[in-house]
Amino acid sequence: MKKETWKELTIGTINPNAGNSVQNHTGTWRSGTKPEFIEEHCIHCFFCWLYCPHFAVVIDGDKVKGFNYDYCTGCGLCAEECPTKEKSIIMVKENVQLAGGGEE
Ligand code: SF4
Ligand code: SF4
Repeated sequence: MKKETWKELTIGTINPNAGNSVQNHTGTWRSGTKPEFIEEHCIHCFFCWLYCPHFAVVIDGDKVKGFNYDYCTGCGLCAEECPTKEKSIIMVKENVQLAGGGEE
């Protein structure tokens, strides 16, 4: 069977208004946990900033300042990669408002 070339394939769905990660607040995906910054333990190595897939770690010059929860999905990578003996980031539970109005 001859395979279709990319020019012959049937066109699928096109979303002309897909937006971008600045307009779309990825923090709305967060469900259940969020990172909390413990500044006194932080050595400002920037590992959290480097590993965060959503650029949700807030920095000011050469210092980490915390998190932008509009974009933080609560994945926990920052806390996992934080190298300090006493963790500078801990994941904490948060109340989530469910679509039906309840809480989880
Ligand atoms: S990974 Fe931990 S120690 Fe390094 S900058 Fe982030 S919070 Fe601070
Ligand atoms: S929990 Fe995930 S998305 Fe949120 S700041 Fe940490 S690495 Fe970024």
